[in-house]
Amino acid sequence: MTSPQQAPRPLTVLAVFAHPDDEGFGCGGTLAALVAGGHRVTLVCATNGDVGEISDPALATPETLGAVRQGELRAAMDVTGIADVRFLNYRDSGMAGTDDNHNPASLFQAPAERVVEQVSAVIRELRPDIVITHDPTGGYGHPDHVTICRHTTAAVESCRPTAPSGPDGGDGPLLYYLCFPRSVFQRMWQEMVNADIRPPFAADDTAALGTADDEVTTTRKVGRFLTVKKESLECHRTQIDPTGPFAQLSQDFVDEIMSTEYFQLAPNSNNQTRDILGELPES
Ligand SMILES: [Zn+2]
Repeated sequence: MTSPQQAPRPLTVLAVFAHPDDEGFGCGGTLAALVAGGHRVTLVCATNGDVGEISDPALATPETLGAVRQGELRAAMDVTGIADVRFLNYRDSGMAGTDDNHNPASLFQAPAERVVEQVSAVIRELRPDIVITHDPTGGYGHPDHVTICRHTTAAVESCRPTAPSGPDGGDGPLLYYLCFPRSVFQRMWQEMVNADIRPPFAADDTAALGTADDEVTTTRKVGRFLTVKKESLECHRTQIDPTGPFAQLSQDFVDEIMSTEYFQLAPNSNNQTRDILGELPES
């Protein structure tokens, strides 16, 4: 019989994202809270972010950017408290419609069965309770976000019969999609317009960006971890543009937006409905 005083057992959590820094803005607070709660967290990063921005030429060249960003992610996860960081070492596929989409080393061009098997192997090894990845829209449609979401979803489903690690036994991991609700994009757009900042997306686009609000299943307040979340994000130095539209937003607004994180519990073949992430205490 379970005593009400019995401490919940630590969870094993696997986060799978496309690029170094994808983990930070959307779920850096949740990852820090999981670590602080004594849970075991592993981060898998599918690409090295090779075609991302270079904020300062002193930090990297196009040739060194992938290696530099690997280092930035390890430093960021040191701040968050995650030691187990793994790379699948695919090439960044770039934004939709660019030549980088066609590079044979890119994640976008990688055979689906190979990527699914790589993620499945990590799931079989760790037997996670929870897997977190991008949502099916990729937030703003980045081909690597959409691709790793699809492959991670397939990997979780393929492991269901052989990874009986769920707290209720036998059902395999719960899959969560990291979401950026449409209303958050719209608030950000309005805030930029009000502050005379040129938004990086058109007003019409905000009607389609991100996840429809009614598809968000799990909202977590992470204000207690805002400082560590921001310190971790600051490690991604090549990706921080001090003159960009996001950097010009007021600190109060940014802090408010960053203090809440959103997830969608993915539909699954076992009809699991328990929201483990939502049930965790806020600290
Ligand atoms: Zn990304």
